[in-house]
Amino acid sequence: MAVEIPFRREFSFEYGRLEPVAPMIRRIVARNPSPFTFRGTGTYVVGHGEVAVIDPGPDLADHVEALLAGLAGEQVTHILITHTHRDHSPAARAVQQATGAPTYGFGPHAGGKRGDPAVEEGGDWDFVPDRTLGDGDRIAGKGWVFEAMHTPGHTSNHLCLALPDSGILFSGDHVMGWSTSVIAPPDGDMAAYMASLDKLLGRPMVERLYVGLQPGLRRAAGRSVHAHLIDLVARGIVESDGPPALDAHYRIARN
Ligand SMILES: [Zn+2]
Repeated sequence: MAVEIPFRREFSFEYGRLEPVAPMIRRIVARNPSPFTFRGTGTYVVGHGEVAVIDPGPDLADHVEALLAGLAGEQVTHILITHTHRDHSPAARAVQQATGAPTYGFGPHAGGKRGDPAVEEGGDWDFVPDRTLGDGDRIAGKGWVFEAMHTPGHTSNHLCLALPDSGILFSGDHVMGWSTSVIAPPDGDMAAYMASLDKLLGRPMVERLYVGLQPGLRRAAGRSVHAHLIDLVARGIVESDGPPALDAHYRIARN
């Protein structure tokens, strides 16, 4: 049976502009559209005056220049990385050079163990965080506190970053609004991915989800989660109590 997955693929933005998308949160989209990045990587800024940058993005000079121009007069205090794909972390170097802010992440790509370069071409092998974040670690800045959730699967070092007080989660590429997440072995791991989805299901998920490319709309977040669940129920990986409706209850199928 064909199941229509209600992805959300329309959203308005302008390349080169740091734009508010929610209280305390701004976003700038890198000009690297592709089948893997949709319109481009979303780089997020949290806070005002003294700010955290989440996923500086690909190594594109105009993207970094536009981000820094949008932050003129403000201080970057933290550079946070959800994972080390080349569309997310490489610009951390240029942003760090310009601002002196330390980088935070789970660890180097694939634990630093290089595999077949042809298979692993999407990894940013040069990134090593100044400070490592593990599951449950909290990190505080001016006006915000993040909680790190280790969510391996899309990559082994993937983190989701929750802002517990606001009910917002930066889900990186773990859950996206416009597509299912790509799980590419060897660093990508479907079993780990399923366990990580299970971990998110343990939270009051939809209200807490902030979808990577999307402007933080609850409706979009709900659709994204629902899309994953429809797909996973169809594949027998997740069970639901009845049809996989928005308000159904879900659990990982154990058999
Ligand atoms: Zn990725």
